[in-house]
Amino acid sequence: QSGDSRAASIPRYVRVNTTLWSVDEAIRHFGAKGFTLKDADSFEVSSKSHKDFAKDKHIPALLLFHPHVSFQDEEAYKIGKVILQDKASCFPAVVLNPPASKNAVVIDATAAPGNKTSHLSALMGNLGVLFAFERDRRRFSTLQKMLSKAKCKNVESVNVDFLTVDPTDPKYSRVSHILLDPSCSGSGIVNRLDYLVESEQEADSSVQELEERLNKLAGFQLMMIKHAMKFPSVQRIVYSTCSIHTIEDEHVVRAALESSEARTANFVLALPSEVLPEWKRRGLEGEMNEPGHAASLIRCLPGEDATNGFFVSCFVRGSSSSSKGL
Ligand code: SAM
Repeated sequence: QSGDSRAASIPRYVRVNTTLWSVDEAIRHFGAKGFTLKDADSFEVSSKSHKDFAKDKHIPALLLFHPHVSFQDEEAYKIGKVILQDKASCFPAVVLNPPASKNAVVIDATAAPGNKTSHLSALMGNLGVLFAFERDRRRFSTLQKMLSKAKCKNVESVNVDFLTVDPTDPKYSRVSHILLDPSCSGSGIVNRLDYLVESEQEADSSVQELEERLNKLAGFQLMMIKHAMKFPSVQRIVYSTCSIHTIEDEHVVRAALESSEARTANFVLALPSEVLPEWKRRGLEGEMNEPGHAASLIRCLPGEDATNGFFVSCFVRGSSSSSKGL
């Protein structure tokens, strides 16, 4: 299947920013604009009508439209009431499941352009504190614009390299949840609309160059997870990529589980039942060392799942009841 045909099978995903209005209000709004709400099972991207829309089956507050529907001139998009975000890219915040309380302290370690940050902020009910770190200055400014447009009031954004953030700083002593969506090869992206990619994909590189590049990325990704595991109160860490390469996905998770940081802090994989159990495509069994581990991982395959290619994993402290039995 060509990249184009895989991209054409992906609906226009629209996430309702529940910080600003409810899903029901959004549905009424689009109904008044001439769209017809369909059941998710009867929604077809190949339908001749571009006026159907549906609620997603897996992600609350996510709506599906025909891929040709443009939202650039839509007022709700311009003022941050809806966010254009691929379905798979909504998985990490949902799996992280941050608390919605005024005492919540959460980190988005690699935040720009900020789709997942604004998603986390909405899931937190715009309460508590969400530290959003971004290393790149230009992308940091994009992040700030996005957060202001989405009216995220609980986010403290910092233009910093996450690896230089001191986990023992009292400011971070109560951080309980960390989202890690670091730079990756982007090999899963077939529809670039919702992804501000940092570098070109590996189309022209030789096998050896590709492998070197992936190994370098994997080394960096592992370092980021190990750093996240050093925060004293962190209970839950979600690591995700928009890569379909096992080197950046299962292999990084495997190495993280075997690291001294994971052993010291007692991190294990969350149970499959805690990681979007209704989603059927899981990690690659043969790529993990422990039986059953692959079932705790999520994969999305472009052309098969009506999303871009994506990978999600979730580490939890072993002392919590959720991790028993693995
Ligand atoms: N989560 C974002 C979203 O959904 O909008 C996308 C994140 S993008 C895949 C990765 C981001 O991490 C890039 O903006 C990159 O500049 C940033 N980054 C890479 N290494 C970093 C580090 N060590 N500390 C902070 N940010 C970093």
